[in-house]
Amino acid sequence: MIAKVIVDVPTSQTDRAFDYLIPEKWTGIISPGMRVVVPFGPRKIQGFVLKTEEDSTVAKMKAIEEVLDVEPILTNELLRLGDWLTEQTLCYKVSAYQVMLPAALRTKVKKEIRCLCSVKELPVALQPFFKEKGSIQWDHIQKEAPELLPELQKAVKKKLIDMNYRVQEKGKKKTEKFIRVAKHVNSLLEALQMIGARAHKQRELLTYLYEEGRAVSMKALLETGKTTRATVKGLIEKGFIVETDEEVYRDPFLEKEIKPTKPLPLTAAQEHAINPIFAAIERQVFEPFLLHGVTGSGKTEVYLQAIERVLANGKEAIVLVPEISLTPQMVQRFRARFGSLVAVLHSGLSMGEKYDEWRKIHRKEVKVVVGARSAVFAPFENLGIIIIDEEHESSYKQEENPRYHARDVAMYRGEFHHCPVVLGSATPALESYARAKRNVYTLLPLTERVNNRAMPTVEVVDMRDELRNGNRSMFSQALFEKLQQRLERKEQSVLFLNRRGYSTFVMCRDCGYVASCEHCDISFTYHRSHHSLKCHYCGHEERMPETCQSCGSEHIRFFGSGTQKVEEELARVLPEARVIRMDVDTTRKKGAHERLLTKFGQGDADILLGTQMIAKGLDFPNITLVGVLAADSMLHIPDFRATERTFQLLAQVSGRAGRHQLPGEVIVQTYTPDHYSIELVKANNYEQFYEAEMKYRRMSGYPPYYYLALVNVSHPELTKVIGVTEKIVHFLKDELSSQSVVLGPVVSPVARIKDRYRYQCLIKYKVEPNLTKILKEVQQHFLHETSRGQLQVNIDLQPYLFM
Ligand code: ADP
Ligand code: ZN
Ligand code: ZN
Repeated sequence: MIAKVIVDVPTSQTDRAFDYLIPEKWTGIISPGMRVVVPFGPRKIQGFVLKTEEDSTVAKMKAIEEVLDVEPILTNELLRLGDWLTEQTLCYKVSAYQVMLPAALRTKVKKEIRCLCSVKELPVALQPFFKEKGSIQWDHIQKEAPELLPELQKAVKKKLIDMNYRVQEKGKKKTEKFIRVAKHVNSLLEALQMIGARAHKQRELLTYLYEEGRAVSMKALLETGKTTRATVKGLIEKGFIVETDEEVYRDPFLEKEIKPTKPLPLTAAQEHAINPIFAAIERQVFEPFLLHGVTGSGKTEVYLQAIERVLANGKEAIVLVPEISLTPQMVQRFRARFGSLVAVLHSGLSMGEKYDEWRKIHRKEVKVVVGARSAVFAPFENLGIIIIDEEHESSYKQEENPRYHARDVAMYRGEFHHCPVVLGSATPALESYARAKRNVYTLLPLTERVNNRAMPTVEVVDMRDELRNGNRSMFSQALFEKLQQRLERKEQSVLFLNRRGYSTFVMCRDCGYVASCEHCDISFTYHRSHHSLKCHYCGHEERMPETCQSCGSEHIRFFGSGTQKVEEELARVLPEARVIRMDVDTTRKKGAHERLLTKFGQGDADILLGTQMIAKGLDFPNITLVGVLAADSMLHIPDFRATERTFQLLAQVSGRAGRHQLPGEVIVQTYTPDHYSIELVKANNYEQFYEAEMKYRRMSGYPPYYYLALVNVSHPELTKVIGVTEKIVHFLKDELSSQSVVLGPVVSPVARIKDRYRYQCLIKYKVEPNLTKILKEVQQHFLHETSRGQLQVNIDLQPYLFM
């Protein structure tokens, strides 16, 4: 037998399956989706088994040297999905498989086999290995007795042993001693007779364990005085119970008790929205839905009840939430409904924690996964629904290889599993809404807030007038007064500052020189806490200069208004207000995010001041005022989605106010009050915004009227970059149909990063069946040069980032 293996060497020459012999002893053991170690040239490297076949056309084959998994870690579906990803994103096969797995599986970690039963219950051949210890090293058994692999595999299937990856993390304990009744004890009465009448305590413990019918934590038993060490020891020696090491999962969110919740009786509007989803679940058909519901319209309750139906049918659910709204509050709503059936995957977890969560899914211990983008690859085999909350969020697109969009992957998996995919948002992406209008997605509108709670009133303040009236503060008169009011009424406020477009840059007041990174064409960001300048592209850091580098003047200052500056201003004008600041700096430490929000939720602060990370998911009853400090800061970013993003963000932030009994008010401060994105947020009119924005997109030829592909070229020499980009543009113009537009070459918005010059060209197309093939040729042709020179060519299909 031979195996077709994708090796872990991400280059275009190795981007195909290689044939390897399967050694006799592993016939029938090695199957698709497992990882193996194979010789490759002089090296030994990891690879994924794609297929096994009887024969090969290759004359001289090497043999597989090691097996890394006892069971496949990629299902057949995920193997196929990998192929598809490769086509869709022009990435290497091995990158496609790796993106689906937790990082712990990508690094070389020690693996051990743990015995889950008493040694006597194991197959005889395995018993000698576990005599002394409950676990042995995988490497050890591979070297000493590779012929035992079939026995091991069988034992894993029977759950007598399991394979564990040792992701070492300091100060974390992850196994505990558990005890349970030995498997051979079939009758409690018989066992009790054998123990004898006088051993009261032993009889008591055995009876308890027998009735429990599962392994029980020894620590818990001892601590609650249910038994003693001597009793446990006695029963183990007599062979009635066994001691095992059980994994206790590291769970950052599960420390507190969560009060379970019951499904709420749905409102008529929610009923209306959920029924078509139920129908798709019952009929087991793929159907994409767009749940367009204003903030506070009860979308989450719809998700929860749809999932409940899926679970009742014995199936599984994936819920995607943008990283920044994956707050403990959000996760709790799912845990409160589905308890320990929920796994959570987000970037705040350590490598070990992520791996733990992934394993719960892999072992089918959970039925629901709530997570950020990559959770879309959760290895469920019986999916009943995929939900993408805040589907318009650009963080669903991965900005490195493979450049996939979670929405596309969700659609692929939905089709594969014949299940509904629900996209939810108050402000859907234009692309999605356009699809709903063409009935590609089924539109499910929720136009009102639950229980007729009013949408907050939005007041737009023209900051130019403020300046004319002599107000130089960053707070308008109206916002200041309303903040004061809230303090008096003991209600809470949220102040939002857009991070983007608001970085604090350093400029000379005399000559206008702006301090920027010498390796990248990007201005430095000032960091007050270190009194330093930092480049956000390459990480280069410098001390804040005393004098201007260009003219020597001492009048060098930092500009822009970061959250720290707002905080200082607040302390000056409203000294009695208790403020919590939430931004990248204050939430860097693990758990800080949660602590700050809990503090705010408990009423320990009057004002929550923050960036993007407070725009979503917050649901506190006492928030009655939301202030947006500079609504237009995002409007002028050179990106055709700038207007859409502004509208979406303002709608999101506004949605934080008045979600419960108290009515909400929103103040939007802006220098462009007449811009339609701001006017229509005020009118709370998505539909009209959609129409206006679509007109602009049609006129200027952008999505959803055209598809886009961005080709990025970079090299240390400017002339080389320009030359190559020109060649690419020529080639594309020749190859593509006449309806497609090729723009460029143009210099990228960030012209240099890490001493590499950057140029790009943009393809706008409608129908271009050979596009993938043509772009692959571009890649291949110029990647040839990569090995010699320093050229990089990156291709991004349906790009969201134009830097
Ligand atoms: P969205 O996700 O659309 O922003 P949520 O699901 O957070 O809205 O709902 C807003 C509020 O309304 C929440 O406090 C939620 O508990 C409540 N809610 C949702 N559905 C119902 C219902 N059917 N009956 C009563 N309250 C509801
Ligand atoms: Zn730099
Ligand atoms: Zn100067």
